[in-house]
Amino acid sequence: MSSFSLHGVAVSSGITIGKAHLISNALLEVAHYEIPEKGIAAEIKRFNEAIKSVKNDLNAIHKALPKSLVGDLHAFLNTHLAILADKSFLDGTKKIIRQEQCNAEWAIKLQLDMIIEQFDTFTDAYLRERKQDVIQVVERMLKVLLGHQRAKLNNGSKQNNGKDIILVAHDISPADAIQFKHNQFAGFITDVGGATSHTAILARSLNIPSIIALQRARDLIKEDEVIIVDGSQGVVIVNPSKEILDQYVLRQQQWQLEQQKLSLIKATVTKTVDGTAITLLANIESDESIAEIHASGATGIGLFRTEFLYMNRSLPPDEEEQFIAYKNVALAMKKSAVIIRTLDLGADKQANLSNIETSNTALGLRAVRLCLTEPHIFHTQFRAILRASHYGNIKILIPMLTSLSELRQTKLLLAHAKETLIKENIPFNQHIQLGGMIEIPAAALNAKAFARELDFLSIGTNDLTQYTLAVDRTDSTVAHLYNSLHPSVLFLIANTIEAGAKLGKSVSVCGEMAGDIQLTKLLLGMGLRQFSMHPSQILSVKQRILQTNLNKVTKVVNRILKMDDLAKTEMQVKKLNL
Ligand code: PEP
Ligand code: MG
Repeated sequence: MSSFSLHGVAVSSGITIGKAHLISNALLEVAHYEIPEKGIAAEIKRFNEAIKSVKNDLNAIHKALPKSLVGDLHAFLNTHLAILADKSFLDGTKKIIRQEQCNAEWAIKLQLDMIIEQFDTFTDAYLRERKQDVIQVVERMLKVLLGHQRAKLNNGSKQNNGKDIILVAHDISPADAIQFKHNQFAGFITDVGGATSHTAILARSLNIPSIIALQRARDLIKEDEVIIVDGSQGVVIVNPSKEILDQYVLRQQQWQLEQQKLSLIKATVTKTVDGTAITLLANIESDESIAEIHASGATGIGLFRTEFLYMNRSLPPDEEEQFIAYKNVALAMKKSAVIIRTLDLGADKQANLSNIETSNTALGLRAVRLCLTEPHIFHTQFRAILRASHYGNIKILIPMLTSLSELRQTKLLLAHAKETLIKENIPFNQHIQLGGMIEIPAAALNAKAFARELDFLSIGTNDLTQYTLAVDRTDSTVAHLYNSLHPSVLFLIANTIEAGAKLGKSVSVCGEMAGDIQLTKLLLGMGLRQFSMHPSQILSVKQRILQTNLNKVTKVVNRILKMDDLAKTEMQVKKLNL
């Protein structure tokens, strides 16, 4: 076995050593081969057995669903079971096996192509969306027929809790990644993706070493090969020699020791050397992350990305389900702030809901635009958040604002949701604070107006960088052009921080920049006093802050902000960290 290494974009640090487990896109791997006449009956039997196996799997998932996840997942599983029982699908596939004398996988693929063609002609959005269900069921069937490691994954998790399994995938959707949260793996690597794509953000929240944009990892790495994932350097070493392995075991131990040392500052008050207090908040994707937040030393939640509540299901969560999720977080955080961002669906964050159609482009109908177009989404979510506000210190954050008119329409809808609760005598915090994400250049340039009309601002540097530089944050082919240190991006961030300071409104950064220790001093020098990041990054950022002399750093940063050349800016930021 030859040893080789791959380089990608590190998204979650730490070192892990384990065995590769390939996550496949089964549809891409279907081969066509002929079945002799006398083998047809056996091939049909193989097809029937695959159907039975998938049905058993789905029924087992159905039974094992934790109460907190039940909701619409039952309906989702039932849809999949119904597809498996569909007579025209079953008979059609068997007919192809007989007539074409081909393998079951190929017949399924042909049958799927025909079905997809029909779905594409439907004008009804609900029916069109069912196509996705059929594809998912077919994927499951193909994985069984191709002998994929579905069973092995389960065995692996049983035998060793998945502790030495490293997932190797071409790409993983945010919806898939959130499902991985329910399993334990040692590492996670993909061929594509950008450092601030939602898949990367979720990989980070899995809290295991992860690397993306490795280009051909899925092709080059074989099942069960031993791999080292160095999530700090973005390097994967496949089939390492004994010497390399020993070196990495040592480095892994050192890294773990450093993490233990960091935990000693958990209770230390966060302030710079010259005594300026800094607030460190956590970003979360579900109400399941509370234990992690408490362990991180975060003093509140700066960004609750609610769109993940809408994924892996066919209908959105209703008011009651959302209320319970928000209330759980509010109660768990006691008096600490919980900033709940309203639905930011669209572009790379797709939920495939049957009754909500979102744009799949970054410039389309997404986030607040979607909620204003379909006000019932806003109404349900506002009511749920407002009801939960009675149980803790909740604030509302609106994503992707571009203009004041969007903000005003949003305020009207919020006021209407409040009125309905008052009429029903349902308690809520009538003075709930309203904040806005500054993540579109138009909003950052007009930050003063947004600061005037809002209680607080939160800078989404992930999108702000994408939109300022016209670089798709999910596209690995332009990842080298995605750089938040670009003078124009820094100008917009500085403009927003200044607008907040002038009007006495708090400003935080909740994009990935906030958790990058290479940028902590820069942001402090720019005047930022509130950071929100993934819980696993909080202690390292805190350590940086405790070592920062704010006076000194501010002077250097003021000079950096005058630079107009990215290369020079990068060099100076590097120096700042020496
Ligand atoms: C951002 O854009 O920086 C942000 C925090 O929002 P998201 O990553 O969820 O788009
Ligand atoms: Mg964003």
